[in-house]
Amino acid sequence: MAGRRRIRWERVALVFIPLFLLLCTQCGGDEKPQESQSDSSAIVDTQSGAENAEQPFQATADFVVVIDAGHGGNDGGCVSDTPLRIEKEDTLRMSEAVCEKLETYPNVQVIATREEDVFVELEERCRIANDANADLFVSIHRNIAEVGNGVEIWVNKETDEVDRQLAEYIMELLEDVGISRNRGIRYGFRGESADESGHSYYVNANTNMPSCLIELGFVNSEEDNTNFDQKFDAYADAIAQGIMELAIDQGMYKP
Ligand SMILES: [Zn+2]
Repeated sequence: MAGRRRIRWERVALVFIPLFLLLCTQCGGDEKPQESQSDSSAIVDTQSGAENAEQPFQATADFVVVIDAGHGGNDGGCVSDTPLRIEKEDTLRMSEAVCEKLETYPNVQVIATREEDVFVELEERCRIANDANADLFVSIHRNIAEVGNGVEIWVNKETDEVDRQLAEYIMELLEDVGISRNRGIRYGFRGESADESGHSYYVNANTNMPSCLIELGFVNSEEDNTNFDQKFDAYADAIAQGIMELAIDQGMYKP
């Protein structure tokens, strides 16, 4: 037994030591858009399945969409204790499901900013999308508040109409599936008026293509968590469908 255990630890070390060398130790939630030190992490192109820590992503299809699972690694995002619910886990699960839905469309390249429980700098998430010259960028998050429930979608303060349309398409389809409350399409950054604050969510402000950031319910709302779990597949469908409908309407994708 001791021998088997030793071999297992060696394997773990092989995977994690290079990872730790690569990853930045700092946390990078959406409240801290300014911090960005590390330049690399384990990023996976969901289309090729190839790890790509160094090289920029390149477009291999007419329509390229980036799905960004919020947080990861030592950045758990919003955490609710009773029962335990960790944002980074929900965002990864949903991101993977949305990617799978998108991959069913022909000639669509889907890029995930992370496919594991790893920390990825906000700057890196944007770099991936910008290097790939992606057509759309959608970030998936969950929310928390003392009291609150529902879905809100954030777009850049300096947005053009396409960002807002993208958010509206997704929201409408999520509403059709059923959400506890439509909290609206919002400009700017949480807790600040878009008109007064000088900034938006980092990933919205620093991606070159139309983007939005979905807060898919509150981790401390029982109703939202039940919806998230029971309507999980339909939510993933709604997000993917909203993306594709917008892409078709904007001439980014020809079915
Ligand atoms: Zn978040």
